[in-house]
Amino acid sequence: KAAIKVVSIIKPLNAYITVTGNRAKEHADNSDSRQNSRCLLGKLDGIPIAIKDNYCTKGHPTTCASKMLSNFIPTYDATVYKRLKDAGTVLIGKTNLDEFAMGSGTIDSYYGPTKNLWNSDLLTKFYVCDNKCTEDCESRSMNENSWHITGGSSGGSAVAVATGSCYAAIGSDTGGSTRNPASYCGLIGLKPTYGLVSRYGLIPLVNSMDVPGILTRNVDDAVLVLNSIAGPDEADSTCRQKDYVPFDVPNAIDISNLRVGIPTEYKERNLNQEVQECWDEVSQYLKEAGATVCPVSMPYTSLSIMCYAVLNRCDVASNLACYDGIEYGYRADEWSSVHESYKKTRSEAFGKVVKDRILVGNYFLLEENYDEYYVKAMKIRRLISEDFDAAWDNNVDVLLTPTTLTEAPKYNDFILMDNQTQCSIQDYCTQPANMAGVPAVNVPIKLSRNGLPLSLQLMGPSFTEERLLTVAKWIE
Ligand code: GLN
Repeated sequence: KAAIKVVSIIKPLNAYITVTGNRAKEHADNSDSRQNSRCLLGKLDGIPIAIKDNYCTKGHPTTCASKMLSNFIPTYDATVYKRLKDAGTVLIGKTNLDEFAMGSGTIDSYYGPTKNLWNSDLLTKFYVCDNKCTEDCESRSMNENSWHITGGSSGGSAVAVATGSCYAAIGSDTGGSTRNPASYCGLIGLKPTYGLVSRYGLIPLVNSMDVPGILTRNVDDAVLVLNSIAGPDEADSTCRQKDYVPFDVPNAIDISNLRVGIPTEYKERNLNQEVQECWDEVSQYLKEAGATVCPVSMPYTSLSIMCYAVLNRCDVASNLACYDGIEYGYRADEWSSVHESYKKTRSEAFGKVVKDRILVGNYFLLEENYDEYYVKAMKIRRLISEDFDAAWDNNVDVLLTPTTLTEAPKYNDFILMDNQTQCSIQDYCTQPANMAGVPAVNVPIKLSRNGLPLSLQLMGPSFTEERLLTVAKWIE
């Protein structure tokens, strides 16, 4: 109940698309009978969690922040949500995102942008109003564009956790969508290895890169959530078959044998001075604690964004072809032929970014363009992936890089750029890990001079989450 209250207090930040209060109340009402039953209650029993609104949740709207799915109520649960439910967690709400997870700011949602709580006077204003915000007062703060973006596309999940309205939130990560908002909101943001966590019920963006992500306030919480959702799933053939072995991260951590690689190509020209200093400081701390910290070269890093732009659009064109207004979702009111019904439905219900990507994707996939774009991008993807293999072959245990090139930009500045430019800056450091499928985690480090979180990223070889999160906990 307390969590639901917090959810309503953070309303001006627009973290939630749907608040699932009934589910929480039902769970609370049943708590006595659960306590009395003989079943063993796990550590997550009764714990409020939030889920990004691109995961199917039976009986609860799942909109992908799109008008297209604004009336869609799934008849089944995503595996991630089912496992969290089985562990006893309570769904507190479905969180905001960029439409169909296409973006890096949580600004392109049919339900409006999510706002960062850091350095924002929105919350203060709300409290001054004694929690009795009138519509007029809310819309005044909505017009106040001095706030910072949350990053995205899982910005709703990040704000849900950062404000304390839930213990943990599930995001998704195709090019950085969990780590980027974690970086801007000062959270742990884990993108597990591709195939460690089932994608069943996660509405796809790029099937070969999508991974469910975890946002929490510390590493131990992320481990607890990972332990409850990871492991084989018959419903997802891309999920690793091997049994998952849960782990804990100890409090006493020895990093003296650790080999840390610093990829020189992540020093992008737009890298902010404060982020660079933060990167240098943490490298120095690791050295002082006995770790070997050495530069490594990952020469194909800078091609990742362009390569992703091609592969993303091809998958988008294909994945979003099913939204035709026939089986489910939005359907235009007036039309005189089936063809016109498709056309009107799709023109009216998709936002600009989504429409642009579908058009460009179909262009790349034309028979005469296929080799020139899609096949070439797949070859570059292989080279990027081999950059990582070379680092591991050089006995590097983890790579340390920035997560984002700057602190959270102001909304007003961010919207001056088009979506592709936004993503090419935001995803520069996060995107390559999705190309290679390796695990990566955002670790918040300190506040910038402007009072905003600065973070770094750790990446490791596939299925080494235990070591990765151990190093993250040492840094945290
Ligand atoms: N910013 C990237 C995009 O818009 C990645 C988004 C994501 O990880 N879901 O496609």
